[in-house]
Amino acid sequence: MTIIKTEVVPKNSGAAFEVRQGQRLRIAGRSIVDFVAFNLRDLTERFDQARTKTNQVKIFISTGDILYSKRNNPMLTIVEDSFKEGRHDLQKGMCSRKRFEMVAQGTAKRVFAEGVDPSVRAPALAEGSYSGFRPVGLHINPKAPEEIPDHGCWENLSRAVKPWNISPDDIPSPFNIFQCMRIDPDTGIMYDTTIRPKDEAHVDFRAEMDLLVAVSACPESGRGQAIRVEVFDS
Ligand SMILES: [Zn+2]
Repeated sequence: MTIIKTEVVPKNSGAAFEVRQGQRLRIAGRSIVDFVAFNLRDLTERFDQARTKTNQVKIFISTGDILYSKRNNPMLTIVEDSFKEGRHDLQKGMCSRKRFEMVAQGTAKRVFAEGVDPSVRAPALAEGSYSGFRPVGLHINPKAPEEIPDHGCWENLSRAVKPWNISPDDIPSPFNIFQCMRIDPDTGIMYDTTIRPKDEAHVDFRAEMDLLVAVSACPESGRGQAIRVEVFDS
């Protein structure tokens, strides 16, 4: 394999890349990457979380699994996955200024499996009482207005795909790489965790069509780090 592109994407920023069918794409890092894909020949064809889950009857994907478009065409196949501490996410959407505000106002929730949100200084607002994972506390991430980030993954991805005239509303819900969730099998509650790669991990994909892919190095409430994207010719 010959490396033809490598780019470091700084924390809480985005980038987009054109990848040709058969090329290998590597996403490397130690914090969450929100990843989306579009058919480069018809940008209205996009990655779809639901098709990806339904076609493979599971909510976690790794080596050997496929990312499907809404038209049920294979877009990418995961050919290597070195994240062994946890699993990637196909449930959540993206963080954004609006979402940060809603969580701060209490109109949207966020809960941590460990009962500890390192970004929260205020005490937990309620004790968790769900069966299953028994979280220590149910945190709702209160934050002062000045502490709310002015942008997140939605804004990062929006900026990244703007040169291709893709509207922010047309960005699909992402494949959230290195975002390890705990999902209660009875209640369906989605618990955030702080499980991340201990050392740099990577996910390698084979492009199954010519693609535009975009990534956001998630701010993760201040814990996000820069990530690296590489493209290889096979
Ligand atoms: Zn994010």
